[in-house]
Amino acid sequence: MKISDKLQHSDWKDKITWSYEFFPPKTSTGIQNLYNRIDRMKEWGYPMFVDVTWGAGGSTSDLTPVIVNVAQKDFQLDTCMHLTCTNMSGEMIRTALKKAYDTGCRNVLALRGDPPKNETEWTQAEGGFRYAADLVRYIKKTYGDEICIGVAGYPEGYSPGDDIDRSISHLKEKVDAGASFIVTQMFYDADNFIEWVKKCRERGISVPIFPGIMPIQAWDSFIRRAKWSGVKIPQHFMDALLPVKDNDDDIRERGAELMVQFCRKLIDNGITRLHFYTMNLEKAVKMIIERLGLLDKELQEVTKKPENELTTNRT
Ligand code: FAD
Repeated sequence: MKISDKLQHSDWKDKITWSYEFFPPKTSTGIQNLYNRIDRMKEWGYPMFVDVTWGAGGSTSDLTPVIVNVAQKDFQLDTCMHLTCTNMSGEMIRTALKKAYDTGCRNVLALRGDPPKNETEWTQAEGGFRYAADLVRYIKKTYGDEICIGVAGYPEGYSPGDDIDRSISHLKEKVDAGASFIVTQMFYDADNFIEWVKKCRERGISVPIFPGIMPIQAWDSFIRRAKWSGVKIPQHFMDALLPVKDNDDDIRERGAELMVQFCRKLIDNGITRLHFYTMNLEKAVKMIIERLGLLDKELQEVTKKPENELTTNRT
C-alpha cells in the first residue's frame, strides 16, 4: 500500500506511528539474521512501513530489491525502496523500479546519492539523473500515482554550514516535482527540527515529514554517526553520556532515556510519524517504543494536535 494512502487510513491516521529503516547486510548469515529480526520486530510493534537502503554507489542494486521483496511478500509489510542516482544509468534505474513495482512495493525514496567511495565530485551516469528532483520527475512521469515517492530532508542542511533556506528550496523543488512525503536525516536537536518543520510549512511544503531517529547503542557509534552526518549534539546529550562512555549498558540506558524525551518533545509538537534508523538492530528501538508507551494501543492515539504538523498530514 502507498504510504500516502496509509496516512489517510483509519488504522493509522490519528495514531502515533513508527517505521523502520534497514540496510542490506554483506553476508548471507547477516541477511538471514535481518529476516529473523524483521519478523520479531513486526511481532512486537507493527511498523507503518519498512524501508531498505540502496548501497552507496549502487552497490546493492541486486540485494535491495530482494530484501524489499521478502519484506513485502513473506512478511506482508508495506515497503519503501531507496533508490539513488550514483553510478545508475537510465536503464539500471528503469530495471530497479520495475523490480520493486513487480514485487508489490509501492513506495520509493528517491535520492541523488553521495559520490562513489574515494571520489569527491558527484558525476551523472550515462542516461541517468543529476538531482533527486530529476528522479522524482521520472518516477512520476513513468508510474503516475502508482508509486508514492518520498525524498530526503535535512533539518541542519545537507552539510555543516549549509544555507538552510537554500536547502529548503531544493526540498521544495523535490516536493513540487511529485514527492508525497519527506524522511529526514538523523538529528538530535529536537528544537531545531521543530523550527525547521515550521520553516518548511511557511515555504509551502505541506507533505508529511518523517523525522529520522537514530537510537543510541554505544558511545563510539553515537559520536561517529553524528560526525559522519554532520549533525549537532545538544549539550545535555553530552552531559548525560560522556560520564558513562565506557559502560555500554549505561550508555544504552541513558541513550534510551534521552531518545524517549526527544521523541516526547516531537510528539508534543504534533510530529507523530517516528522513523527509526534501526541499523539492523532491535533492542534500542524497542526500548524507545516501549517506554513511550506506544505498544499500548490506547496511548498510541494522538491526544495533542497542535497546528504545525497534524494539519499537514494530508497528501
Ligand atoms: P538532492 O536533494 O538532489 O541534493 C544533492 C545536492 O545537490 C545537494 O548538495 C543540493 O544542495 C544540490 N541540489 C539539489 N537540487 C539542486 C538544484 N536544483 N540546483 C543546484 N543544486 C541542487 N544514500 C545512499 O547512498 N543510499 C541510501 O539508501 C540513502 N538513504 C538516505 C535516506 C535519507 C532519509 C537521507 C536523509 C539520506 C540518504 N542517503 C542515502 C544519503 C543521500 O544520498 C546523500 O545525502 C546525498 O548527498 C544527497 O541526496 P539527496 O537525494 O538529498 O540529493
